[in-house]
Amino acid sequence: MRFFSLSLSSLTLALVALVATPPTMAEARSFSQCVASKWPAAQRIGVTRANFERATQGLQPDTKTTRLVNKQAEFVKPIWEYLDSAVSATRVKNGRAMLRKYSNVLDEIERRFEVDREAVIAIWGMETSYGSFMGDHNAVQAAATLACKSNRRNKFWSDQFVAAIKIAQDGHVPLSAMRSSWGAAMGHTQFIPTSWQAYAADYDGDGKRDIWRSIPDALASTANYLKKHGWRYQQTWGYEVSLPRNFNHKLADDKTRSLSEWSRLGVKRTNGKPWPRPSDQAYLKYMAGATGPAFLMLPNFKVIKRYNNADAYALAVGHLADRIIGGGGFAKAWPRDQRPLRRAEVREMQSLLTRRGFSTGGVDGKVGPNTRRAIRQFQSSRGLVADGFPSTKVLSELKRL
Ligand code: CA
Repeated sequence: MRFFSLSLSSLTLALVALVATPPTMAEARSFSQCVASKWPAAQRIGVTRANFERATQGLQPDTKTTRLVNKQAEFVKPIWEYLDSAVSATRVKNGRAMLRKYSNVLDEIERRFEVDREAVIAIWGMETSYGSFMGDHNAVQAAATLACKSNRRNKFWSDQFVAAIKIAQDGHVPLSAMRSSWGAAMGHTQFIPTSWQAYAADYDGDGKRDIWRSIPDALASTANYLKKHGWRYQQTWGYEVSLPRNFNHKLADDKTRSLSEWSRLGVKRTNGKPWPRPSDQAYLKYMAGATGPAFLMLPNFKVIKRYNNADAYALAVGHLADRIIGGGGFAKAWPRDQRPLRRAEVREMQSLLTRRGFSTGGVDGKVGPNTRRAIRQFQSSRGLVADGFPSTKVLSELKRL
């Protein structure tokens, strides 16, 4: 579970600058003072003085996480490259093995939470490659570092820091075993401490919600998280669809319609099967413009995004889940000859669009609904396919004018 949100059609990479220099004396002192200043927040959630001292005594900043630059990246990874690694053949194969290995646990989880097993396994695969990489940081140290060394979201990180101490105090896991990512995303499910407090589950009834050392607890926790965010059991995340010739591409990213309404517009499943529930509401999404695969997204797609707020992530989870239970690849190929625009190019495109009278509502290097609309209007005016996708083609066409 990430604390940053990535919601562009291609995955924007957050930059993490890793500074490995040891802290100076003055830095160490100011870090200790900062950590000590979190006592009232810890006390408020029930941490004892003794446990606070135990957790913070001699605590050093995590030098691998020292500086987090969560700024907008210049380079945007194309969705197909992201999916190639997120839904690799190895990850699919291992997911199938995990589905078999934990079938009894998953039976019980489905019974208890009404969340589909393949979705739970797919998230586990995406987050930590089925537990093979839970991060090499400690949640208390990572959260303290971010609370005291970053200039952003101090309250958020302070909350994570004290929550992590409380989790150890309550005996769920020893402080030393609280493995996390640099962003304090913990254990098999990569829950940040406050999400752990709200959603972690105790599958085996031993009183501990141990998402680090109990795979059943971790899987139940993920299922509980999805359930609490509105998961609809046995209703998938979405369908790859084919569109009729002369389809109005403005309907992509537009409002939700029932599947039978989409049928009337000529939209079909690429595998030729009927909709299981024609009254389901879905919205049409292209991830790489009209030349790539198109999808109708069901409500569960948005539930997956609650785990990590990126369309690319949610598509990868959904697709991995499908592959794990025997589904094949997408019917339509990605436009691998294209590439998404870099941030500087998006700014250039926005200036050019605005200058030509297609207002993007500002020049910020981000492709939001206003920019997408402006691209569509521009494409229409030039007789191009109006899919609103910020491709290199759009930019070169604008520059030619
Ligand atoms: Ca347990």
